[in-house]
Amino acid sequence: TAARLEVFTESVIRGMTRLANQHGAINLSQGFPDFDPPEELLAALERATRGPFHQYAVTWGAPRFREALAAKIRRFSGLPIDADQHLVVTCGSTEAMMVAMMTACNPGDKVVVFSPFYENYAADAILSGAEPIFVPLRPPLFGFDEAELRAAFAQKPKAIIVCNPSNPTGKVFTREELLFILSLAEEHDAFVITDEPYEHIVYEGHEHVHAAALPGAFERTIVCNSLSKTYSITGWRLGYVQAAPKVIAQARKVHDFLTVGAAAPLQEAAVAGLELPDSYYVGLRDLYARKKEVFVEGLRSTGLPFTDPQGAYYVMVDISALGFADDVEASNWLVKEVGVAGVPGSSFFREPVKHLIRFHFAKKEETLRAACERLARVR
Ligand code: GLN
Repeated sequence: TAARLEVFTESVIRGMTRLANQHGAINLSQGFPDFDPPEELLAALERATRGPFHQYAVTWGAPRFREALAAKIRRFSGLPIDADQHLVVTCGSTEAMMVAMMTACNPGDKVVVFSPFYENYAADAILSGAEPIFVPLRPPLFGFDEAELRAAFAQKPKAIIVCNPSNPTGKVFTREELLFILSLAEEHDAFVITDEPYEHIVYEGHEHVHAAALPGAFERTIVCNSLSKTYSITGWRLGYVQAAPKVIAQARKVHDFLTVGAAAPLQEAAVAGLELPDSYYVGLRDLYARKKEVFVEGLRSTGLPFTDPQGAYYVMVDISALGFADDVEASNWLVKEVGVAGVPGSSFFREPVKHLIRFHFAKKEETLRAACERLARVR
């Protein structure tokens, strides 16, 4: 088998979900909700199963879905997104990122990735023939050092990946930070590839800025996004790439030959989500703010230090005090002996960081309380 596959491991996130299922542990590893999507989507899904949606949709997205998606993006970003020119509908943001990389990079190109990073990015870079180069985000606020980023750009990367709000750090990039990244990208003629599935999950005092909508950014930004987190439908696998027409023309080819298209009945049903009123998104923010409060309060009772996210729904807990050799050993013990699954932090870092475990809180409050009660017993 191909040598490039020796360079990275299977997804640790998805592996932890399998381990959690095997041991019946409360699964706070792979980030997905244990509650249903909005009623509007469930009803629309039922209707869609009886409609004429059982064959291939248009490769780059069913027209009705793309129209609704374009309108929703216009509503929140202010960008004049056109359904026919600026979008490719993909199987989740996961495919969107792979499409973005294969569209942007030639074999041997470098791609800047902030560390810690969502584990797919390094694998995606390698699969597309590119080489990831890493720039650290440092706690407690996970900002980057401008000189370090400038040095990375001096290596002439073809692209930089910006996960905003960021998984696993919960960092929400400020307008100034994004403008700085964009100015370097412009200077070195690189793409800015963003991954923004948590755009609507941002906590008080922070604001999600659409990088593509900043002055001069549209032509060089490739947005990857997903409906998974916004509408609690991670299993529907609906995402998209949004970019300038000449990038989209190429991205469509990559997408077509990878997957042909996302599931037609699910695209039809998801229109009901895209058409939800603004109040839905306010409700979603409030829901996650409450979950964060419950989880953070529960974690405090463990006495272990943890990160305070500005957005998304992940917390990294410092498990040094538990006395394990590393985070992998600690995570395995937590699943098997304590009944709570998280993701070893080392799978997100380029640096040898082995004292963190990432937990997510996209769960019912009762699930979060039960998990924290179990965690509080470990000290
Ligand atoms: N983004 C989610 C996480 O980090 C999971 C996404 C996935 O597994 N495809 O846990």
